[in-house]
Amino acid sequence: MSTYGIDLGTTYSCVARLDANGNPEVIRNNEDNSNTLASVVFFENENNVVVGQAAKENIETDGDRVVQFVKREIGKASNRTYTFDGKTYTPVEISALILARLKNIVESQGGTIDNVVITVPAYFGLEERSATKQAGELAGLNVLSLINEPTAAALSYCARQFQEDRTILVYDLGGGTFDVTVVKMSMTPNEAGGDVQKIAVLATGGDDQLGGKDWDDKLNNYILQACCDENGITASDIEAETRQDIRSKVEEAKRKLSQKEVTKVRIDVNGSRTEVVITRKDFERLTADKVAQTMNFVDSTLAKVPDAVIDTVLLVGGSTYMPMIKKAVEEKFPGKVQQHDPDQAVAKGAAIYASMLGLAIEGDAGDVEGSAGGDASEDKRAELAAKFSVEDQTPRSFGPGVIDTKGTKNKYILENFIKIGEKMPAVATKTYYPIEDNQERVRLRAFENMSTEDALIPSVDEEGNPQATDPANGVKLLGELIVNLPPNTPKTTKIEVTFKVDASGVHVEAVNTATGDKFETFLRTASDVDIEKSAVHQLRISSD
Ligand code: ADP
Ligand code: MG
Repeated sequence: MSTYGIDLGTTYSCVARLDANGNPEVIRNNEDNSNTLASVVFFENENNVVVGQAAKENIETDGDRVVQFVKREIGKASNRTYTFDGKTYTPVEISALILARLKNIVESQGGTIDNVVITVPAYFGLEERSATKQAGELAGLNVLSLINEPTAAALSYCARQFQEDRTILVYDLGGGTFDVTVVKMSMTPNEAGGDVQKIAVLATGGDDQLGGKDWDDKLNNYILQACCDENGITASDIEAETRQDIRSKVEEAKRKLSQKEVTKVRIDVNGSRTEVVITRKDFERLTADKVAQTMNFVDSTLAKVPDAVIDTVLLVGGSTYMPMIKKAVEEKFPGKVQQHDPDQAVAKGAAIYASMLGLAIEGDAGDVEGSAGGDASEDKRAELAAKFSVEDQTPRSFGPGVIDTKGTKNKYILENFIKIGEKMPAVATKTYYPIEDNQERVRLRAFENMSTEDALIPSVDEEGNPQATDPANGVKLLGELIVNLPPNTPKTTKIEVTFKVDASGVHVEAVNTATGDKFETFLRTASDVDIEKSAVHQLRISSD
């Protein structure tokens, strides 16, 4: 058996595992001569689908046959699809193609990839998480668990440089997203009487529309302008091919400026060769506002945990290779900044976590043969599992929609049993009642939302029923549980409702305390829930 960690990124993905000495290592993508795989899919024709750098190269010329940034669509209510050659793909299916390519990279080097842990942003809600898991299964992987990206980055830091109590700020600037997370590491006693290093998320923030792409766009416009100036023309004179030429050279120029002070790009401007010289200074001046924007998110995230004192700042994400980022973060946190494999740390942390879980689940013998380069031994895994414990926070608030009959007018409210940011697994129970005597059943609807309040009044339609989604508060209907009641049930009958949230989903249970009848369901996704246009079968909040 072999366990791997996968960072399924918005722009680049990465796969890693533990070597025979228990150290995380990335499986190289030899075809692209890179440690990562571009999360880009090109549907060349009905028989050929290309994933990676080769797909990326087609963005400018065959943009309508290329899918990128699919992570932004996965598990979203928009239900976006992509159609090529008469075949329609969901974001889950596109993500599965990227995961299958990673699986193929491992297998082409003689490895066997069975069990995996896939990383997700800390802010992903339940549907994004279950859709990611589904993509893994569709790619033929056994998904042991998901882990939050910053937690994985902290785990890889921790495994490399073991230190006791620490508060870490993870600054993750990727290709399309920026995430700030405050993570607390503390030594806590375990059942066996030893100590484990616990990793817990304290606060998260950021912007899912801010990333390396914004730096690319700025550089693109700069080069475009330089081409105009050099040739005495205006932007509207620039031909489509020239624009494509510039686009295709921007990212490489940006990467070069991370190493060199000056770089040159040669562009064929409407047939005449033009050389554009870009200095790092110019590039930094051009994008200073973007850097400032990330620092504002650092401040607003720190404001959520006023008592936290940051010991270390971890720079994660490919965009932190840009010297301007390190400079800005150093300025704010002098002497505290660490950068190590920024584009691989998340996958490596996931590999460590996968090994910890692999041991717990399989109790396997750490099959050293059968995979190139060796897999971590059983001892190493046992050591890791004894050394760390990971405690994530709930990414949303969760609770049922119920009728509040206390006031003069019946009101539909969402009661948040479990609030965003609580320690997972989280469990809570409350008691409700049928609306009227002799009710045959109650319809228990489960919602997620972003509110930190105890209760929330959702947007309702013209009949007073809650909307399945309400973007203002991030309200989303997750599913429902039908609780059948025996004949002649009085409205004073207590129905005990329990919500349990863990990393893989939400478990909802309802018990009729008069009969002991128990109803339960495990919610992963709301895609097949049909909202009934009636509030009569709801539960109500108080007895009267
Ligand atoms: P994701 O956003 O998918 O998690 P990464 O963390 O790998 O992806 O970040 C990808 C971003 O990092 C891209 O915008 C890429 O251009 C940028 N990047 C990678 N290497 C460098 C570098 N050496 N200098 C500047 N930017 C880089
Ligand atoms: Mg990333």
